[in-house]
Amino acid sequence: MYQPSSFITKNTKINSWNDLKPYFDILINRKISTKNDLETLIQHYSELISVFAEDYAWSYINMSCHTENDDYVKTYEKFASVIEPEFSKGANQLTLKITAHPQFSELDSTRFGQLSKLFKRELEMFRDENVTLNAELSTLSSQYDQVAGGLTASIDGEDLPMPMAGTRLLSSDREVRKNAWLAMQESRYAKKEEFDTLYSDMVKLRHKVAINAGYENFRDYQHDNLHRFDYTPADVEAFHDAVETCVKPLALSIHKKNCEKLGLDLSDYRPWDGSGEPEGQTSLKPFEGGEELIEKAIDIFSILKPEFGENLNAMDKNNLFDLDSRKGKSPGGYNYPLEVTGMPFIFMNAAGTQRDVTTMMHEGGHAMHTFLCNEEPLVQYRETPSEMAETASMSMELMTSSYWDKFYNKEDHIRARREHLEGIITFFPWCATVDAMQHWVYLHPEHTTEERDSHFVELTKRFGSCINWDGFEQYQRNGWQRQGHIFGVPFYYIEYGIAQLGALQVYRNFVKNNKEGLDGYIKGLKMGNSKPIPEVWENMGIKFDFSADTIKELMEFVQEELDKLDVDICVV
Ligand SMILES: [Zn+2]
Repeated sequence: MYQPSSFITKNTKINSWNDLKPYFDILINRKISTKNDLETLIQHYSELISVFAEDYAWSYINMSCHTENDDYVKTYEKFASVIEPEFSKGANQLTLKITAHPQFSELDSTRFGQLSKLFKRELEMFRDENVTLNAELSTLSSQYDQVAGGLTASIDGEDLPMPMAGTRLLSSDREVRKNAWLAMQESRYAKKEEFDTLYSDMVKLRHKVAINAGYENFRDYQHDNLHRFDYTPADVEAFHDAVETCVKPLALSIHKKNCEKLGLDLSDYRPWDGSGEPEGQTSLKPFEGGEELIEKAIDIFSILKPEFGENLNAMDKNNLFDLDSRKGKSPGGYNYPLEVTGMPFIFMNAAGTQRDVTTMMHEGGHAMHTFLCNEEPLVQYRETPSEMAETASMSMELMTSSYWDKFYNKEDHIRARREHLEGIITFFPWCATVDAMQHWVYLHPEHTTEERDSHFVELTKRFGSCINWDGFEQYQRNGWQRQGHIFGVPFYYIEYGIAQLGALQVYRNFVKNNKEGLDGYIKGLKMGNSKPIPEVWENMGIKFDFSADTIKELMEFVQEELDKLDVDICVV
């Protein structure tokens, strides 16, 4: 792990801007005469970002684990709306100082070329007047987290957190599924207006941020802001089209097969049936609680590579997991890298389902990425863009899937792998829906909430749906509100689609030759953000390409893997 210099006093804690300001002042006023001085300045700047990022991370982690704890909420909001704005102004000044130095362009381009690109983009995007707007946006986003985290579904007189209620949708009893689904929808629908207002306010603010920065709309602004150097918004639109032509028919046939399995007519395939099991079949029960999940994940990661298992073990010893679902936790799951600790924190809402197994493997993939990059001295190279980060996590889901027998007997293991592979196919239409919806929202910032809901329904039809919503149309219309990314991290979603194509290629290499596949994966992850994504992917032995041809070829590969499972079933 990278050991920082003595520039910042060890164990410095950030409680206010005053804890950071003296360091900024030193760096901003420091005299830089030689290339060596400049490189040291870049390094010290990176260390300062790391110290800030570590404590900002903890403020977010504490809040998302305890959304009802006022102190944690206040601390996070202080970071987001008071400290971060000051930090970003100081950072902008320092970036300017570094890039404007005459010797900056003379630094070794193989080492600093990518950093120069990142710095220049940051300077282009920065506007003083956007600092306060971004702080307001962070506050709105944490309000969404609190409302969404507080949702419960009332079933049989019990108030269940949403992930716990969601396990009932896996039941083979159709009435149980329907009741749970209705309770969850009612709970979410009761907050519809609150979510609508929050989102409309966010859209307005984001549009303003984009205009301030000289863009026509927030979509194009955010594309550049997310450092998407290697593709354009038009490429993303072409990706949506490719999903519609190449993946939609496959996804629909999976839904139809599922419907047949349940013994239902397609016209009677209802929103509570999608994850249901046929009568007499029990749902998969891979583990009892978070501790068992960690233990088995450690076993599985160790088979793949002993060092991977040791990494998870080290996290466990340092209390870097909060996995079980309970009331008052933010929804979803994440892996949050801790820049000083050199390890990440994994957050989940596990309720003992197969989906939780996949999430654990996914977040574990992100965690290995954090470990594999922790020798890199520059924080800008440790923080990878989402397309690459999600490739690391989704590849891990696939590579570990052959070892999920730690959770199951042979028959259930095949069921779990089938569910996972089918889920890869059915995910693409949802991914395109979520992304296309945001394209429309930010290209039409003046829209009404009714138009927004209607457009969402149109998109679900465009990308394929065979569900009968009769009588429950209102719950179909606010379906987008369950996707937290739309609120908190706008446009962060298509990356899952792009990354899945990378992950499938990594897995195809792994299936051909375990060692070579894994070596390529590790090599790419170690590169962090030090090179453009296409170059990192090339080093992993995969192509950065989301054209229709590649999608088609990879969907065929998924189909082949599914066919192999059919052969395995005959042996069971
Ligand atoms: Zn992820």
